[in-house]
Amino acid sequence: MGTQASNVEMKTGEAANYRICVRCIMDTTIPGITFDEAGECNFCKLHDKLDREYPLNEKGQRKLDKLIRDIKRKGKNRKYDCILGISGGRDSTYTLYLAKKVWGLRPLAVHFNDGFGNPVAGENMLRTTRKLGVDLRTITSDWRESKDLKIAGLKSSTPDIELGTDIGIATALYGVATKEKVQHILFGQSFRTEGICPLSWNYLDGKYLKAINKQFGTVPLRKWTPTDPGFNLDIFQVFYYTIIKGIKTIPVLYYVNYVRSEVDQIIKKELDWVYTGAHYYDDLFQSLLTYVFRVKFNEDRRKFNYSALVRSGQMERSAALERVKGVYVIEDQKVIDLCIKRLGLTREELDEYIARPPKKFYDYPNHYHIIKKFKPVIKILCKLNILPGSAYDKYFNCGD
Ligand SMILES: [Zn+2]
Repeated sequence: MGTQASNVEMKTGEAANYRICVRCIMDTTIPGITFDEAGECNFCKLHDKLDREYPLNEKGQRKLDKLIRDIKRKGKNRKYDCILGISGGRDSTYTLYLAKKVWGLRPLAVHFNDGFGNPVAGENMLRTTRKLGVDLRTITSDWRESKDLKIAGLKSSTPDIELGTDIGIATALYGVATKEKVQHILFGQSFRTEGICPLSWNYLDGKYLKAINKQFGTVPLRKWTPTDPGFNLDIFQVFYYTIIKGIKTIPVLYYVNYVRSEVDQIIKKELDWVYTGAHYYDDLFQSLLTYVFRVKFNEDRRKFNYSALVRSGQMERSAALERVKGVYVIEDQKVIDLCIKRLGLTREELDEYIARPPKKFYDYPNHYHIIKKFKPVIKILCKLNILPGSAYDKYFNCGD
């Protein structure tokens, strides 16, 4: 493993025009990275822009207070006033804690299960929801469908192997919100600790998923109904949930001074939360993904994660640089073997998919041309919290 890591390092280091940001650790392995005269990257600029939009001062606090008031008012006569997506990991556990204990909301916790959950995270969810007195609803995807989408993702040769899961999570939340007549969906993501993934490393588009399914899948996607959406999230469904149903999706941690080490202390003490061993390790499939990203695409996603921590003063830049030198611990060959087996593949088949020439989302049918046409509309929808505040930046401000 050590040799493979240094190979990748050599590959990136060898490139004559290799460059790294002077402030974070984003470098020219990131598609669409640009640098200003001072050597600072466009992702740092995006961080500063978000930091101005979601300031950690009185003005920011007033915005958060208003948001909480709105959620309470809209959900007044309902059993729940918000839906909160959880995975058992740190971010969503803390978001649930804030929502219930600090802000006094009445959330329904929703978990999307596609068959690869880490048992440690599963126990976290049961324990923390019980301790907080929050109902937990698990939406289990059709196993044949979700397995087939993962294999189709591998065959498509793009980094969007988890596209099905990403869309499944979104539709699970929209479906439950519609069923429970709740208009606010909260999720625990923070640009201050996680950063935003470059567009072509993680591109979300329902038409794209359909195209991958059509070309590489063996199981047709289940039909859409408002409360049981399956893997359908095309422009029509987005319009239905956001405009017709008026459902808002809010990254609430943007409003909060999220300091990872402090949060760990709080949720361990208050909720007996257990660390899964690595960020994103609430999902065992991340082990296989991290491996494929590295060996096939020369993508190290810790770069945007650690860069976020460096910008918000939670990690030293030198420590971040040191850490990305080695292979990420999440790449556990035993877990990778388990994932392969669960998908019904052989190691040879996986190796064959990895060996295929890499592609990106724009090599397949997608709706990016329409998304681009609606750029000003998307900006407004994000401002109004109808789409998550990060969506605009994700599509238009995150490299290519
Ligand atoms: Zn930077």
